[in-house]
Amino acid sequence: MKFNAILKANTGTGSPFIIAGPCSAESEEQMLQTAMELSANGIPALRAGLWKPRTRPGNFEGVGRKGLEWMKHIREITGMAMATEVGTAEHVKACVEAGIEILWIGTRTSGNPFAMAELASALADAPAEQIVLIKNPLCPGIDAWLGAIERIMSCGLKNIGLIHRGFADFSDSVYRNPPHWEVARKIRAELPGMPMIIDPSHMAGKRELIPGLLRQAADLGFNAFMIESHTDPTTALTDARQQLTPEALRALIDDVFPKTRSKARVCTEEKRL
Ligand code: PEP
Ligand code: MN
Repeated sequence: MKFNAILKANTGTGSPFIIAGPCSAESEEQMLQTAMELSANGIPALRAGLWKPRTRPGNFEGVGRKGLEWMKHIREITGMAMATEVGTAEHVKACVEAGIEILWIGTRTSGNPFAMAELASALADAPAEQIVLIKNPLCPGIDAWLGAIERIMSCGLKNIGLIHRGFADFSDSVYRNPPHWEVARKIRAELPGMPMIIDPSHMAGKRELIPGLLRQAADLGFNAFMIESHTDPTTALTDARQQLTPEALRALIDDVFPKTRSKARVCTEEKRL
């Protein structure tokens, strides 16, 4: 099923498609436990940042390459597809070698034309089925986002999608990165066939604001999501305030998408990437 699972969810014809997992990979045990719990709830893909782009230096910057070995092992055990962030050509090369199914380009990278050109040329060596998701750049607007997409499309890959994670602005918003849904609508109008994944975790910044954002997204017709999940969120090394336990995530999905729930359970196999 692969990319079609995201495409179908995006066009509203499938069940919601959800990529979930910790903000950062911290240890193999943490990753495995989270993955097992998410997988038991029908989540087909595990996200975890291995190289963390921190706003200020001196904080946890990720476990790096060794996390790829953990991901390979966890994929064998759970059958989940693996997703991680790439910011340099070296990250791309290492992930392609490890067969990481879903790569995403983060917000701090997508607005930088030099970095995007470098990633596009590294991705030219990726297999045709490689999925690449491009997060919106930091500031509201579609031009820089479109530029990032065009650069990645130039590498010849077809399975390209977007992640809308909200935009930093100077408003007095309750959200860490207000959604500016009008920007999502505009880019969707420009690229109607391109899957759009909503990341309410980085929009919210606080776990209690995630349900409201997920409902807003569902009401607007979005049906594919990336949501941060950690088995013990308060101890998380990054984004501790916005992560949900796998159990809380399951309850939230049941609540927002009640009709698709039973279907999601029986179709777990079909939903696997
Ligand atoms: C992340 O997904 O953990 C991340 C760093 O996100 P963003 O690029 O949206 O800030
Ligand atoms: Mn995060």
